[in-house]
Amino acid sequence: MAAVSAQVLSHYRSEIVENIRANGGVLAAGGITVKLAKEFGFCYGVERAIDLAYAARKYFSDVSPQTPIYLLGEIIHNPEVNDQIRNMGIKIIAPKPTDVEVSLLNPGDVVIIPAFGTEVSTRKKLEAKGCVLVDTTCGDVMSVWKRVRQYSIEHVTSIIHGKAKHEETKATTSQARAYGSGHYLVVYNLAETDFVCNYILHGGDKQEFLNKFEGAFSAGFDPDLHLEAVGVANQTTMLRGETEEVQRRFKAVMQKKTRRRKHRKTFPLF
Ligand code: SF4
Repeated sequence: MAAVSAQVLSHYRSEIVENIRANGGVLAAGGITVKLAKEFGFCYGVERAIDLAYAARKYFSDVSPQTPIYLLGEIIHNPEVNDQIRNMGIKIIAPKPTDVEVSLLNPGDVVIIPAFGTEVSTRKKLEAKGCVLVDTTCGDVMSVWKRVRQYSIEHVTSIIHGKAKHEETKATTSQARAYGSGHYLVVYNLAETDFVCNYILHGGDKQEFLNKFEGAFSAGFDPDLHLEAVGVANQTTMLRGETEEVQRRFKAVMQKKTRRRKHRKTFPLF
């Protein structure tokens, strides 16, 4: 990575941005004031993934110039960065290659896993094929995986705050099923959170629930059975404050449900 740091810097460094930063985040000229966003640029996970992709390109060009290098999906959802990666000779393939696509790869081919990770089944297929994996999965994403795997072991359903179709969330849901046990449900926002919380507390129309969350829950998930114990996790690019609110609402509803059960035990209704 040290050997490519100058190249990475030259590709992504911006003098304008550096000048604005040096000026306290503000640039005023010709009656126009430009303010730099507080959070601007790549997060450290993506920075590391880009560095590793460059390093992989250099390393394999040096030791084995003919070895093709592939990237699963995109390194980041930014067309310019992905074009830059392509221009370095790294071929972008589907984030979840089909069996046919995997069959076209050869043992020893290099495959880069992006910062948001990949599904368990995809990783297994690539390993079985004998590909060399350059895994740039961010440590923070792996922490989420660790948590959902633990939920799975404890038969706790993972409630994942995220977008069901996002690669990172798909990778996380696959971890929630990594042991073959456990279920998951993806909620996108607070409105969906409230819908689920209301179901936990008051029940409802199961079919309506399943239709509403189609594509966002594990195979065999039954809201009447699998919402008895839940734990929250998230897609790391969701707003942290919103995930915390999702967590608060689930915690509150589970506490309410537990209190209600205890109350019923103490004062049975005849
Ligand atoms: S978890 Fe995702 S958003 Fe956070 S630093 Fe890692 S790659 Fe970036």
